Amino acid sequence: MNFCALCWRPVVSARSGYGKSRYFCIAHKASQETQNDHLLQKRRILRVLEKRGHHIDTSLSQSAFYQKISQGLESLTSDPKIAMKDQIDFRKETSYLFKRFVSVTSRFYPITYKKLKNIRHITPQTDEEFFTSILITLENSAFIRGLSLQFAMVESDQKPKIWFPNLMRVVARHEAVEIVNEHDFHPGPDSSKFKKNELRDKLYSRFQHLKEVGSKGKQKQLAIEFGLSEQRISILLKEYKNKGIT
Ligand SMILES: [Zn+2]
Repeated sequence: MNFCALCWRPVVSARSGYGKSRYFCIAHKASQETQNDHLLQKRRILRVLEKRGHHIDTSLSQSAFYQKISQGLESLTSDPKIAMKDQIDFRKETSYLFKRFVSVTSRFYPITYKKLKNIRHITPQTDEEFFTSILITLENSAFIRGLSLQFAMVESDQKPKIWFPNLMRVVARHEAVEIVNEHDFHPGPDSSKFKKNELRDKLYSRFQHLKEVGSKGKQKQLAIEFGLSEQRISILLKEYKNKGIT
């Protein structure tokens, strides 16, 4: 099961009928309509990771870069393997599995658990009813909903031993994306002078580093790393350079 580098959805597979993508889902794959969402989501993730001291080098190759982003996303929340370490008996019936699912989710993935509040008291009769109800609740977009159901694990011929851990992985990743989204984005001027100075210093040292390694499109890279517009980056760098004079 391959996740989109930027979210919890599957990468677009050839069979989806929407083209193919190596790293992204239908909502984030490179196309005109998805470009803004893609950039915004990427900036948000980098920003949250940066805040937690996890720096991703934007000069990496594309595949290495997106792999790092994807791993970084996973690092924001509990590993589903650890979350499921209490033995789950996969031979038992759907209602038992559903209870275990709800209990693991409530303990380890609180934001997702909250989102599932309307369905956590239902008693699904079949495996399919189980994972379909979960995925439909997680997906906000009606258009994408059907495609998310194309996860390999939702194929009903698969055994709980396979699909249950996979569903837990989806939940863990969904949680990470929600954590990123909760840190919403305020690129406006910061009232705190100290913070602004700190940001300028940090920005300038990254700028110098990129310059040393001879990287092209430095301001663009910085814009992505810092979650700011290129214009704002340019202003902040100018301010930094004038600091000694004014
Ligand atoms: Zn995606």
